[in-house]
Amino acid sequence: MNRITDNDVLTELGFRYDPGDLYQQTIDAVLHAADLVDVPRYLRLILAQPKNELIVHFPVQFDDGRYQLLKGYRVQHNNILGPYKGGMRFHQSVNLDDIKSLSVLMTMKCSLARLPFGGAKGGVQVDPRQCSSNELMRLTRRFTSALGSNIGPGHDIPAPDMGTNAQTMAWLADTYMNINEPEDRMNGLAVATGKPLHFGGSHGREQATGQGLVHVLEVLLPEMNMEFDKLAFSTIGYGNVGSWAARLLTERGAILRAVLDHTGAIFHERAIDAIDLAHYVQSTGGVAGYAQAESISTEDFYSTQVDLFIPAALEQMIDLDKAKMLRCRAVVEGANAPTTPEADRHLAERDITVLPAILCNCGGVTVSYLEWKQNRQVETWEEARVTAALQKTMLGAAQRVKIAAKNHHCDLRTASYIVALEQIKNVYDVRGVFP
Ligand code: NAD
Repeated sequence: MNRITDNDVLTELGFRYDPGDLYQQTIDAVLHAADLVDVPRYLRLILAQPKNELIVHFPVQFDDGRYQLLKGYRVQHNNILGPYKGGMRFHQSVNLDDIKSLSVLMTMKCSLARLPFGGAKGGVQVDPRQCSSNELMRLTRRFTSALGSNIGPGHDIPAPDMGTNAQTMAWLADTYMNINEPEDRMNGLAVATGKPLHFGGSHGREQATGQGLVHVLEVLLPEMNMEFDKLAFSTIGYGNVGSWAARLLTERGAILRAVLDHTGAIFHERAIDAIDLAHYVQSTGGVAGYAQAESISTEDFYSTQVDLFIPAALEQMIDLDKAKMLRCRAVVEGANAPTTPEADRHLAERDITVLPAILCNCGGVTVSYLEWKQNRQVETWEEARVTAALQKTMLGAAQRVKIAAKNHHCDLRTASYIVALEQIKNVYDVRGVFP
């Protein structure tokens, strides 16, 4: 792609063209959709850079007494629709470019789902598997205090992501409540979502992303002439998203045929029991050694014949080589940005439909919104109320994407960005640009 003719916005902003850069890839895709709906140039420029990119360095004492200086990030991409919202990731590979990309995707995701949130993302460059629980607590508290007033219930609301969980959010919220003014302390519970149920969490949050993905399929499977009880699928990743998607899909009659995670790959020609595998992974940490299925190579995993292939692990795992191996009818993106642009183009050439992440995994942030709403209203909703609201949001988002793809004769990823951009553009139209 020629940056000068195809993406002069990034050129004007001084980016040096790098087709392998996840941030540039993300903005390229958004701006391609912007072309189809006449997004004005000033808005393209605004969306092509995050509003704020915060990097903090903070010391943490480890259990053996030594201190380490850690690097933490919070990138706030856009808040025209409401407070910034996005996950906090603890992983050794966390870097500014990836966090920026993920913050853009959050802006798009919240807009697509019609949630009153903007987009953000953050994280700490650390391997949480090498940390004790006490070390994780100290680093979470120190990171939260380093972020100071850059987060808050009405300003920027973190959530769990890879390497963080409900406990991390409990430490984060507790720290926020301890270091802030009394009024903020009262509302402090709403500073983070994905918290434990007995500390302001919401029913239905744990399975929300997998559940949302299944609702998207309710709308889009008929478009692909598929039915739940006649399809086989495989997943990369068997953590929160992968295992819940698998459990809920098998509940509808679909067959789980293969799983790959960081420990290995497994296959069963008839079916893998998704619930039994979830228990196994919870106790052992990975799918390797699961006796009720056959161990296979990574290559065999990617070339297993299935109807749906569900990446639910890291970004950029499906590159061109992997895409060439796939034997599926659709890729359903549970993870954020799992498919490279080259792989995307290859899949399109082979008529393999890609259901994009900002649609498929927006169930997580939707229930996060419901948690935030409950915290702010000092209420606890029953699970049925949460799941009904999730279903309504997901079906609405999937319908909007389906209609946009038809109206604009485009792929579903472009259609998702179109739906998101239209909403953002409408709000900029009425709010204007300050001052
Ligand atoms: P998780 O930590 O619960 O699970 C991650 C999974 O990825 C694990 O099964 C792990 O084994 C696997 N994995 C890690 N490295 C791998 C590798 N090199 N090869 C193969 N597998 C590998 O994480 P999660 O919450 O399920 O999130 C997965 C993805 O979905 C992430 O991209 C995350 O940002 C995205 N996401 C999550 C949610 C949510 O609600 N949890 C919401 C939206 C998006």
